[in-house]
Amino acid sequence: MEDKYLLICTENLDSFSLLFQTIKKKASFKVEIVHASDILEGKYTKSLKSFRISDIFIAIEGQAFSRLEPSLRDYCNKLEEATPFTNFLYLYKDMSCFEDSGFINGNKQGYILFENDAPLTQAIQFIIFMINLYNKAVLANRLADYIYHSFKEVVYYEMLKKQKMDIEELNKELAKKNKIDNLTNIYNRRALFEFLEKEKSRTLRNLQKLGGEFHIPDNKSSIIQEEENHEEDVIEYFSIFSIMMIDLDHFKKINDTHGHLVGDKVLKIIGNLLQKESIFRDQDIAGRFGGEEFIVILPNTNANNALGPAMRLAEELSKIKFASNDNRTFKVTLSIGISEYHPTDKDNEAIIYRADQAMYYAKEHGRNQIIIYEKVFDK
Ligand code: GH3
Ligand code: MG
Ligand code: MG
Repeated sequence: MEDKYLLICTENLDSFSLLFQTIKKKASFKVEIVHASDILEGKYTKSLKSFRISDIFIAIEGQAFSRLEPSLRDYCNKLEEATPFTNFLYLYKDMSCFEDSGFINGNKQGYILFENDAPLTQAIQFIIFMINLYNKAVLANRLADYIYHSFKEVVYYEMLKKQKMDIEELNKELAKKNKIDNLTNIYNRRALFEFLEKEKSRTLRNLQKLGGEFHIPDNKSSIIQEEENHEEDVIEYFSIFSIMMIDLDHFKKINDTHGHLVGDKVLKIIGNLLQKESIFRDQDIAGRFGGEEFIVILPNTNANNALGPAMRLAEELSKIKFASNDNRTFKVTLSIGISEYHPTDKDNEAIIYRADQAMYYAKEHGRNQIIIYEKVFDK
């Protein structure tokens, strides 16, 4: 069988040098690698015309290609003219070049698109893929057809992948929007229930690791800080979570006195406070449960330890001077109910119900206070 040729043209000879050795070893055909400028300036001594139609020419876009004037497109066309190959591949990363490159209908066979900033790595992967293909094609003895269709598939695949990525991005965006409350910019009720479900499953899994025993750890935040390596203790720490039910005090009065828009501003500010790193930890999840009610899910936190962030929240809020449109100032306070997860809970509502009861207890006992359900009702 006559030797087939793969001619690679690149301006990155140095960075490719190692790869070239591999390529040469792997290929069951001849591989030549030339510098792009040598071809363009006619310095490449072997006549391009001496290649046969079934040989493959690959040009790889490098940094300098994209800086070239006139455009990359002109450069690309020039390269195409300079080669007799029908198996011509131009590897680059600019979508706009690809869109009207005429690959699909054109008589030259290939523009492959690489869309990230590392076209070299992708080009390398692609060439290796191509070499495998070429090896197979030599065996199949239907070279041009085989390669043509395979290239086409790869290009379509790249296009579809790009479209799929766009759609996935869009979906992610939409999913995110579906979970966020418009006014306060924190999670909405639906998202809160999702997180609660996840937190419950995670906690139950950890409890099972403990052999079903349930202890309420006392101040387990110190466990991690002290770096005790008792696995059981650490699992125990991860086997609890708490929630906070937060309700603004006399919020109706704020609306009635200062107007709904001022009320909205208050809710927004609460939303900001609930995301403050100085009050909550990264892993805590805050959402608007409805109206002027908020829930915070505090993973790996028992009810006692949830008191800390609750107090910080109340403290921060007490520092804020709210202003109405006519510059009257007013203060806002919160009633907070806390409860921790009980492994016997039948559903997500159980913990919410307890936190709610604690919150109502706070209301009944003068508002502007924090009540832990387990301390008041579980005695
Ligand atoms: P309490 O201290 O007992 O909680 O009294 P409250 O006035 O805060 O509670 P109540 O349930 O009587 O009133 C809640 C008010 O919250 C009534 C409702 O109009 C208002 N509200 C609910 N959602 C919004 C909102 O999105 N924007 C504004 N501005 N007000 C809202
Ligand atoms: Mg309420
Ligand atoms: Mg209220």
